[in-house]
Amino acid sequence: MTETNISTKGSDWGYAPAPESADHFKLNEQYGLFIGGKFVPAGSGKRFATINPANEKALAQIADAGEKDVDKAVKAARTAYEKVWRKMSGRERGKYLYRIARIIQERARELAVVESMDGGKPIRESRDVDIPLAAAHFFYHAGWADKLGYAFPGKSASPIGVAGQIIPWNFPLLMVAWKVAPALACGNTVVLKPAETTPLTALLFAEICQEAGLPDGVFNCITGAGSTGAALVKHPGLDKVAFTGSTDVGKAIQKSLAGRSTKLTLELGGKAANIIFEDAAIDQAVEGIINGIFFNQGHVCCAGSRLLVQESVEQVVVEKLKARMEHLIVGDPLDKNTDIGAINSKAQCERIRDYLKVGQDEGAELFQTKCPVPEKGYWIRPSFFTKVAQSHRIVQEEIFGPVLAIQSFRTLDEALEKANNTPYGLSGGVWTDKGAKIFKVTRGIKAGVIWANTFNKFDPSSPFGGYKESGYGREGGRHGLRPYVELS
Ligand code: NDP
Repeated sequence: MTETNISTKGSDWGYAPAPESADHFKLNEQYGLFIGGKFVPAGSGKRFATINPANEKALAQIADAGEKDVDKAVKAARTAYEKVWRKMSGRERGKYLYRIARIIQERARELAVVESMDGGKPIRESRDVDIPLAAAHFFYHAGWADKLGYAFPGKSASPIGVAGQIIPWNFPLLMVAWKVAPALACGNTVVLKPAETTPLTALLFAEICQEAGLPDGVFNCITGAGSTGAALVKHPGLDKVAFTGSTDVGKAIQKSLAGRSTKLTLELGGKAANIIFEDAAIDQAVEGIINGIFFNQGHVCCAGSRLLVQESVEQVVVEKLKARMEHLIVGDPLDKNTDIGAINSKAQCERIRDYLKVGQDEGAELFQTKCPVPEKGYWIRPSFFTKVAQSHRIVQEEIFGPVLAIQSFRTLDEALEKANNTPYGLSGGVWTDKGAKIFKVTRGIKAGVIWANTFNKFDPSSPFGGYKESGYGREGGRHGLRPYVELS
C-alpha cells in the first residue's frame, strides 16, 4: 500500500461562499401605495426607507400612508366588492387565484431574493419554504373558490365584505398569502398593511395582481408604520379585521373594535414547549430543537422557544445540542450555506439583547456559540439558557429571536404542567417513540398546533391558530374559510 503525502493540518474545512445572485431583477427606487389597481404616491408625499438588515443599506423608498390614503384604499375595496367581486362566480374568482399562484411560482427566484434582502432570512428558507408555501396557499384556496357550498354542510356561505389585514415582518409574503388567499376565495376584497420593515414582497405581490389582471380594487396595499395600521383598524368601512403580530398590538386592536360589528381574528405571540422524552430518537430530536428555535432566526410565533427535556437525558441532549449549534453558520442571508440570517431590525436586535441580559440578571446561565458574525448589520449568535425557573421572564415572554430556554422534567404530568404554564397557547412539540405518550401530550397541551417527532411543518390545508393570549380564529384549511364567510 502506498502512503499518501496529503496533510490535513491547517486545512479549512468550512464552506466556500455560495451567494445567490441579485442581478436578475431590479428593484424600483420608490414604491407607491397600491390603491384601485394603480401605484399612487401617499397624499402627504411622505416616504420612508426600507433597510437591508444584513448591511444596513436602504433598498427602496416606500410611500407612508396617512388616514386619507387609508380612506381611499377602503373605498376602492368597497367599490370593487359591490360592483365586481361579490357578484363574480366562485369559478371565475378561482381562475384569478390560480393565475396569482402560477405567477408567484414564475417569479419565485426574484421573490425569494427580495424577501431575504428586505427581512434578513436565509435564502434557503425563503427559496424552499416561504415562497413555495405562498404559492401553495393560493393554489389551495383557488380550489375552494367554487366549492364553498360544500365547505359548510347544510349552510350557504356568502362573503363578508371589505377586510383590513395587518401583517408582521417575520414571513412577509407568506403572511400576505395566508391572509389574502382565503379572503379573495370567499368573495371579499382586501386592504393590506404590511410591516414597516418588510414591505417589498407585498408590493411585488401588488404587481403580480396587476399581471394576473385581478379587477382593480380587489386587492389594495397601504404601506406605513403602526399608525397606518391603527388608522386602518379605526376605519368604519371595514367588515372584518385580521391581524398577525404582537399580543400587545392585538389587544389594542381588540379594544379599538369594541362596540363595532367588525369581525376580528387575531394570530398573536407564542412560547411553545418542545418536549423531549427519554425514549425519543435523540439525534433527530436535537435536529428538531434546532429547527424549532433557529428557523428564521427564531422570529416565529410558533417557535419551540422552550425546551422541556426529561431529566435522565438532559445532559446528553444539552451536550449534543451545543455541538450541533457550533456548526450553525450565521451570516449573509443571500449565501446558500447560511443557517441563521440577520435579525430583522435594529429595534428587534436590541429587544433580543435586552432579553439576554434579563435572563442573566434573573440567574439563568447563558450559552452562545462562537461563530463569527459580520461587522455591519444586526446579528445574534444562537443562544440558550439553562438553570431557568418557570417564573423567569425568559420562560414566560416571547423573545422572538434565536434564544432557547431549557428546563427539565421527571414525569409526563410535570412536563404538561410546565408546558401550559405561560399566557400563550399557540403550538407545541413532543418527541417520543411511544404513540400513546404522543396522544397524552397532544390532549394535555392547550395549543392550536402540536407537532409529534417533527417541528415547524406547515401546509395550507392544515388550520393554524391559538388559544389564550395567542389569539383566536384559524388560518388555513376549511376552518380558515370560516372567518371570511357569512353563513345562512
Ligand atoms: P407589531 O405587533 O407591532 O407589528 C405587527 C403589525 O402591526 C405591523 O404591520 C405593525 O406595523 C402593525 N401595528 C403596529 N402598531 C399597530 C397599531 N396600533 N394598530 C394596528 N397595527 C399596528 O410587532 P413589532 O414589529 O413591534 O414586534 C414587537 C414584538 O412583537 C416582537 O418582538 C415579537 O415578540 C412580537 N411579534 C410577534 C409576531 C407573531 O407573529 N407572533 C409577529 C411580529 C412581532 P409596523 O411594522 O409598521 O410597526
